[in-house]
Amino acid sequence: MTRGISTKGIHSGWEPKQGEARQLPIVQSTTFKYDTSDYMGKLFDLEAEGYFYTRLQNPTSDAVAAKICDMEGGVAAMLTSSGQAANFFAIFNICEAGDHFIASSSIYGGTYNLFGVTMAKMGIECTFVDQELPYEELVKYVKPNTKAVFGETITNPTVSILDFEKFAKLAHDHGVPFIVDNTFATPANCRPFEHGVDIVTHSTTKYMDGHGVHVGGCIVDSGNFDWMAHADKFPGLTTPDESYHGITYAERFGKGAYITKATAQLMRDFGCTPSPQNAFYLNLGLESLELRMERHCSNAQKVAEFLQARPEVAWVHYAGLPGDEYYERAQKYMVDGKTCGVLAFGIKGGREASIAFMDKLKVAQIATHVADAKTCLLHPASHTHRQMSEEQLLEAGVNPDLIRLSVGLENVEDIIADLEQAFK
Ligand SMILES: *Cc1c(COP(=O)(O)O)cnc(C)c1O
Repeated sequence: MTRGISTKGIHSGWEPKQGEARQLPIVQSTTFKYDTSDYMGKLFDLEAEGYFYTRLQNPTSDAVAAKICDMEGGVAAMLTSSGQAANFFAIFNICEAGDHFIASSSIYGGTYNLFGVTMAKMGIECTFVDQELPYEELVKYVKPNTKAVFGETITNPTVSILDFEKFAKLAHDHGVPFIVDNTFATPANCRPFEHGVDIVTHSTTKYMDGHGVHVGGCIVDSGNFDWMAHADKFPGLTTPDESYHGITYAERFGKGAYITKATAQLMRDFGCTPSPQNAFYLNLGLESLELRMERHCSNAQKVAEFLQARPEVAWVHYAGLPGDEYYERAQKYMVDGKTCGVLAFGIKGGREASIAFMDKLKVAQIATHVADAKTCLLHPASHTHRQMSEEQLLEAGVNPDLIRLSVGLENVEDIIADLEQAFK
């Protein structure tokens, strides 16, 4: 039986049996008890299934991962302690020193830094590309040691929409997986696996939580990428792992290989595990995700239309506006053309005027956050992206006057009235 996103968000992952708690229990325990030493040994050899230490896996977190997996239409998933950890694991699970991957230059600033600076120190090279380049240009960046292609469904903060078809072709023509960060769209508005994506990541900190109470991440595998067909490129999955008694993940775990390896190796060694309590908060957010996304989008649509009509506003980017450069792409890839509650705009008078405007707002809060119930905004050039040079800013498509507005769930009349008084 196929189920809708809300039904999955409410019921998947935890289906209580007779007399069990209806709401997901928080298993706040580091460890789990076994009757025999032999059984415990099998767990360590990945021969038996079961929990032994919460750094690797925990029943509460796993239930929530299973829910997100179902919402995305994947085969296996894991939670991480942040979106940063999710994107790091997603790449590091298949790249090692000497490898290369390609990422859109318009991705979230934190991910840009992770890929361009920190991972470079590990000997992994990332080439950032303008995601609007035609295929014939993009293909020139592929190298023999390229192992992945990475983008964001809707980029943060420029809210551009990825050309899935072009990027999927770039990845698959070269025998590597296509990885997409689906944080802004969420599975309520985009199902990347239906558009050629192999692996999806999330910062669950954003809409999935929706109330600004936890930092977390998730990785979901579609199970579609055939590691064995490109065995020479991915020895970590296709040759024996000496740290696990010679297990070959792709042989032993089939479609679950990628997530099993990330859990068994990366979570074991780096420990970016979420707390069960945070997984519980995330689960609450998922129950109302689709409902909230509808309101975020309808509010953002009205705010975008209001801004577009204001004489003080230089430009507005929101893919829900007919005529927006991403309108057609949103119609093609998003459920009912809906994107998210985040929009970007600039005020006439540039950087100074934008800052002065922001300081006058009362309902909308200045915050380094997006995608929760409370309307908030930020000026990337002075906040999230302040480490970037002017040149890097422009390469990332961030105008110095760009304001990122995350439209919340308040009554839209109040949000608009607030913007109106700030303009006056
Ligand atoms: C916030 C964000 C991240 C990083 O997530 P954290 O949970 O803050 O670590 C990654 N990608 C996107 C698109 C984001 O918006």
